[in-house]
Amino acid sequence: MEKITSLAKRRGFIFQSSEIYGGIQGFWDYGPLGTELKRNIKAEWWKSMVYGREDVVGIDASIIMNPEVWKASGHLEAFTDPLVECKICHQRIRADNEEEISGHEKSHKDKKVEWTEAKSFNLMTEVFLGVTEPKLKAYLRGEITQGVFVNFSNVVSSNRVKIPFGIAQIGKAFRNEITPGNLTFRSREFEQMELEYFVKPEDAESKKTFEYFKNLRMDWYTGLGINKDKLRFHDHADDERAHYAKYATDIQYDAPFGWSEFEGIHHRGDWDLGRHKLTYKDPDTNENFTPWVIETSGGVDRAALFFLIDSYKEDEKRIYLALHPKIAPYKAAIFPLLANKPDLVEKARKIYENLKKSFVVTFDDRGNIGKRYFAQDEIGTPYCITVDFQSLEDNMVTVRDRDTATQARIGIDKLEGYINSKLEQ
Ligand code: ATP
Repeated sequence: MEKITSLAKRRGFIFQSSEIYGGIQGFWDYGPLGTELKRNIKAEWWKSMVYGREDVVGIDASIIMNPEVWKASGHLEAFTDPLVECKICHQRIRADNEEEISGHEKSHKDKKVEWTEAKSFNLMTEVFLGVTEPKLKAYLRGEITQGVFVNFSNVVSSNRVKIPFGIAQIGKAFRNEITPGNLTFRSREFEQMELEYFVKPEDAESKKTFEYFKNLRMDWYTGLGINKDKLRFHDHADDERAHYAKYATDIQYDAPFGWSEFEGIHHRGDWDLGRHKLTYKDPDTNENFTPWVIETSGGVDRAALFFLIDSYKEDEKRIYLALHPKIAPYKAAIFPLLANKPDLVEKARKIYENLKKSFVVTFDDRGNIGKRYFAQDEIGTPYCITVDFQSLEDNMVTVRDRDTATQARIGIDKLEGYINSKLEQ
C-alpha cells in the first residue's frame, strides 16, 4: 500500500484533499492521471452496461433529494454501522472488522482491552438548506440508488421501456464513515456506478437474473485485466445483509489489507419500490405489480484503487503499471529520439497531433529515451512511439510495448489501426 500511495501521489493519480491545510479525513482529490483513469473506468462501465444493451437506459439524479426519500428508503433508521469503543483509549472501531479490532488490541501491548457494547451510528451526511432559520435539514445521498427508484415512473412513462429493463447511473455518494482509510478504499465522498434492473416478482426468474449479473460483473473486471486469482464472490450470510437485501454477494479483491468489497450484487426484492409506493402496469396484460430489483453497485474509486494495485509490477529494472489499454490514462506517448533535432521533433509532433484526434496521448522530449520509458511505464502508458533518423527516410517508427519491453517498427499510417486493435483486445 505504501508503494501505491507514494506512486499515486508522485505521479498525480491521487492527492489528499485540501492537503495544504492539513487535509481532511476521508476526502481525496484526483490529479491529472487519476482523473483520466477514473473517466476511463466510468466510460467502460457505461459502454458495457448501457450502450451495449438494449434493455438499459441511463439517468443522472440530484445529490440532494427531499428528505422524505431517506425516511421511506429506511436509510434514516437502518443505514448504520455498529461501533465498539475501546475502554482504554476510547477509540471507536467497526464491530464487524475483526482485523482492526485485533490490531487495536495488540497496540495496547500487555494491557487487556475491554470493549463497550456495539452501538449504531448513522452514516447519512446532513446538510442545511435555505437562507433563513429554520433551515431545511436534508442529506447528501448515502447511495445513488434512491435517485433511480424515485424516477422509476418518470422513466417508464417517458421511454419505451418494458420489464425486464434497467436504469443505470454513475454519481457521487457521501457517507459519514467512522473509519475511513486505506487510501480511497473507504472515503466519505465517493462515486458509485450502479444498475437497477427491474424484473417480474418471480423467485426462480429473479434468482437467475441475480446469477447472470453476478457473472457479468465479474467478467467485466477480468476483461479489463484484473487477475482472476485475486477476485472472488462472497455470499452474504443472513446477518451480514443490508436492510433491503433478499440475497447479496460481494465481488471481493485480495487487497494488501485483506479481501475487500469491490462491488455488491444485491437482490433488493420489492423493498424500495414498495416503500416509495410505486408500481408497474404491464402493457400486455394490464396486470399491476411491484417489480423486484436486482442491483449491481460498484465503487468507481475502489475500482480505480484496485486497478492500480493489481497492475503494479516491479522488476529489477523498473516499476510499471500493467493497466489494460482501455483504462490506461494515456494510450501512447510520442517521442523524438533527440530533442535538439528539429526534423525529429517536427515529425513526432505531427504524429502526436494526429493521434490526439482519436486517443488521449502525450508528447515527451525531456531527458533520454530510457528515462522517458521509465516515466511512461510508471503511469501505465501501453505504447511508446519513437521517431528516429530512420523514420525521416521510411516513415516508420519504433513502437515499444510496456509489458514486454519489446520493440517493433510500424508505419506511421498504421499507428491508429495498431492502437485501435490493442484497445479491442
Ligand atoms: P463497505 O462495507 O465495504 O463499506 P458497503 O457494503 O457499505 O461497503 P454498498 O453499500 O454495497 O457498500 O455500496 C456499493 C459499493 O459502493 C461498494 O461495493 C463500494 O465499491 C462503494 N462504496 C461504498 N462505500 C464506500 C466508501 N465509503 N468509499 C468508497 N467506496 C464505497
